Amino acid sequence: MSLLFNLPDQPCVAIVGDTRRFPVGRIFCVGRNYAAHAREMGKDPDREEPFFFTKFGSTAVPGGGKVPYPPQTSNYQYEAELVVAIGKMGVALETAKALDIVHGYAAGLDMTRRDLQLDSRNKGRPWDTGKNFAWSAPLGPIRPVESHGHATGGGIRLNVNGELKQAADVGELIWSCAELISHLSKLERLLPGDLIYTGTPAGVGPVRTGDVIEVTIDGLEPLQVIIGDPEPEFA
Ligand code: MN
Repeated sequence: MSLLFNLPDQPCVAIVGDTRRFPVGRIFCVGRNYAAHAREMGKDPDREEPFFFTKFGSTAVPGGGKVPYPPQTSNYQYEAELVVAIGKMGVALETAKALDIVHGYAAGLDMTRRDLQLDSRNKGRPWDTGKNFAWSAPLGPIRPVESHGHATGGGIRLNVNGELKQAADVGELIWSCAELISHLSKLERLLPGDLIYTGTPAGVGPVRTGDVIEVTIDGLEPLQVIIGDPEPEFA
C-alpha cells in the first residue's frame, strides 16, 4: 500500500540504561494537582476530581533544547511536571494495580500560552490553543521502573536563568500517579507510548526569548529548555 504522503517521524525519548528509545503516543495532562498551584490559579484545591486535557504526541520535545517562542501569546509560561511513561496497555485499573503499567518517569514541562488558556477558561471553551501547540511538551530521558523503582516522592524544582521559581515534592500531588492512572484507565484504554504530565506546583510564570529553564526532580535526569526566537513564518 502506498501512502499519499508520509507523516513526520514520531517523537521518541531516550531511556536511561537502554539503547532503545520510548516512542511517544498520546499525551495526557492533569490540571491543578498541587494545592498551592490550584490556589494561585484562583481555584479551591479540595473539591475537585482530577481532570485531564491532552496534547498531540507530536508536541513532545525529547531531551529539551531550544524551542521557539510560540505565536499569538505575550504570556508564555513554564510548568515543571513529573511525567509518567506508560509501557503496557491498561483498562479500568484499580489503584493498587495501576503502577504495573508504568515503564518509567521523566522530568517534563507543560509549556502554556497562559493568556490563551485563561481566555478559553473564562469563556468556558476548551484549552487547546493555550496548551496543545508545537514544542509545548519537552521532557527529559525516561528513568525505567525496572532498575530505579517508582517516583513516589522527591523534590521537584524549576529554575529560570539560575533563579529558583518552583520548589515542591512530588509526594505532594493531590492525586498520586497510581490514582491518576486508575482514573484515566476508566475513561480511556491506556496504551504503551502514552505520557501523563501529572501537574505543576505553585510558582508558574512567564519566560522570554533567551531564558534558560531547568527542571530537576530528585532521582531523574534533569531537563533544560532554552527559549528561542519566534519562528520567522509567524512573524
Ligand atoms: Mn500543567
